[in-house]
Amino acid sequence: MIRITDILDKIEEYNPEGDLDIIDRAYIYSARVHEGQIRLSGEPYLSHPLEVADILADMRLDVESIAAALLHDVIEDTPATKEDIEKMFGPGVAHIVSGVTKLSALPFSTKIAQQAESLRKMILAMADDIRVVLIKLADRIHNMRTLKYHRIPEKQAAIAQETLDIYAPIAARLGIFWIKYELEEIAFFYTLKDEYERIDVLVNKAKDEKEEYIKEVNEKLHDKMKEMGLKCEIKGRYKQHYSIYQKMISQNLEFDEVYDIIAFRIVLDTVPNCYAALGAIHSLWKPIYNKIKDYIGNPKPNMYQSIHTTVVGPKGERVEIQIRTSDMDRIAESGIAAHWSYKEGTKVDEGAGELFSWIRKLVENQENYNDPDEFLENVRIDLYPDEVYVFTPQGEIKTLPKKATPVDFAYLIHTEVGAECTGAKVNGKLVPLPHQLKTGDKIEIVTTKGHTPSPDWLNFVKTVKARTKIRSWINAREKERSYSLGREICEKIFRKKNQNFNALVKSGEIKKVADTFGFKSIDDLIAHVGFGKLTPLQILNKALPELEKQEAPEVKAGSILQKLVGKRKKKDSTGIVVKGLNDILVRFSKCCNPLPGDPIIGYITQGQGVTIHRKGCVNVMKMSNERQIEVQWSNEVSESYPANIKVRTEDRFGLLADIASVISKHKSNIVNAKTETQETGLGLFYFTILVESTDQLRKIMSDIRKVKKVSDVKRIIRVE
Ligand code: MN
Repeated sequence: MIRITDILDKIEEYNPEGDLDIIDRAYIYSARVHEGQIRLSGEPYLSHPLEVADILADMRLDVESIAAALLHDVIEDTPATKEDIEKMFGPGVAHIVSGVTKLSALPFSTKIAQQAESLRKMILAMADDIRVVLIKLADRIHNMRTLKYHRIPEKQAAIAQETLDIYAPIAARLGIFWIKYELEEIAFFYTLKDEYERIDVLVNKAKDEKEEYIKEVNEKLHDKMKEMGLKCEIKGRYKQHYSIYQKMISQNLEFDEVYDIIAFRIVLDTVPNCYAALGAIHSLWKPIYNKIKDYIGNPKPNMYQSIHTTVVGPKGERVEIQIRTSDMDRIAESGIAAHWSYKEGTKVDEGAGELFSWIRKLVENQENYNDPDEFLENVRIDLYPDEVYVFTPQGEIKTLPKKATPVDFAYLIHTEVGAECTGAKVNGKLVPLPHQLKTGDKIEIVTTKGHTPSPDWLNFVKTVKARTKIRSWINAREKERSYSLGREICEKIFRKKNQNFNALVKSGEIKKVADTFGFKSIDDLIAHVGFGKLTPLQILNKALPELEKQEAPEVKAGSILQKLVGKRKKKDSTGIVVKGLNDILVRFSKCCNPLPGDPIIGYITQGQGVTIHRKGCVNVMKMSNERQIEVQWSNEVSESYPANIKVRTEDRFGLLADIASVISKHKSNIVNAKTETQETGLGLFYFTILVESTDQLRKIMSDIRKVKKVSDVKRIIRVE
């Protein structure tokens, strides 16, 4: 069993200023709480956190990471809590440990293969600190190294499969190739023992046979580099068993046909020398067209840099050669960890900012990569936290945009589930429908048969699907309502003119009118009357033009219509959005003068579109519910609206000018002013002013209050 002093020695070497005391304390605490627990290997449990800490020390990580590694299982496996850890070791360590614990709590195992991609995303999304992932990977390495102690073969295979599906790809995406290779090799052994052993035999045989050949390539490369005056180190590396196996499977090759089981690597000091070396190699052996990849000029998104070339080497065999600097070599092995590791004179956080801005740049320029690694898409989740991953009750993972709610989730499951959704449980607890879901949440939707979507949902849903479905439901309902309203209005007005609307529908006259107005059907025409976009008189005049000529007043009606139609063109500037409808004729009521910011309600008026009232206006109370319609202020209000205020003053002289100047200072216009003098000597002023919102009005009123001798300012419904 590795000892804490060995780890401390390692850290002291690369980080002599580090606070080793916190590591010592973490060790003692971990030993105390894990006391009595035994690993399957028979060793004390403490050996596990020690090994994990040692792996991180090899990666030269900072002190907080190592302390967190020693404590990584205490919340999960001992009575210790996050609060305990925070009190003793500070918020940084506590955050990392609880992050690792959260990942361990994810319900893996079922249907892993289908969901592997989602799970990988979920892990990266949940780990808001990359060190959480590094500890999780180190944890997995040690668990894989000790997998032989598991006595149930099925269990071994399941853990190995999970490693192949989830953890090795994550290591690859973070560019930590030594972890990827080690995890894959062990997992390959446990998942496909026969295949592993077959390839093992073949590789060993090839090693024997190719010894001479490798020596020859090595020497020739050496001589050439020397001749060119390039200082370098040459390494010959055998491909991993698992990589060979994958290549055989994916390209349907026999073992003998996998030409690159050995790759040569030339490590040089500078980038120009790398290109010089490439030229030298190509003058020595003929390069294979299309096999040159320049990841120095175009680094891979996971920070990998190297030049790859394949040449026809001695004896006509293909040889793959990688050329890179020693810095690139280090990064190729340890990836993101290389950037995370302790560097003298810099704090981890400072380096992190730079690192992430670099990754972000890579992400943004992703089109420039011919071979964009999947890594990209996953790092983006970490950097651009715009998605959440949640579970269905069956353990299936669903992806939603950030701030999505149970309603979005319900619509994602099924349109009907969305429509009938009346409640939701998140992790077993009932939550309100606008509740924002978090990654890792388990969602259960409560539905009620026959329940219908609420327009209010539009205020909080985040997915396009939910929004569209709710809107189209509201539209359909509004259309139905407008249709029956329109029909009723038409029948009534026609009757007043001694005409029978329904008879004209039957005789086909109304259909002709619909055609001239460009409507697809009579229903459409009638619905537009209900919406207030068309008047029954317009229809009547078109259907029976001779009536119009007989009656002078109708001409007047026509001109009003003209006015309305003219106004309709300016609809964008009314500042009103009618929920679920666009393109509707809107007027403001004179009785209560609503202002942007006031709660409002619409009333469908015969032939005059929708009139906007303030909610609570006495006139609205008297109106039939049927014709009320929900409306909202649009975000772009560009008009001014009249508002009435009443100002009470202690003196009547000279104040009008003062108040008027306050109003004009706020860029508002007075359209009407009235004064009253009372016997007591008090003054009363009534103003109608133009404002853009209740906000502006409030500011004006508050400034008027500051005018000397003003005792009271009130907004009133109308000037008496
Ligand atoms: Mn562990």
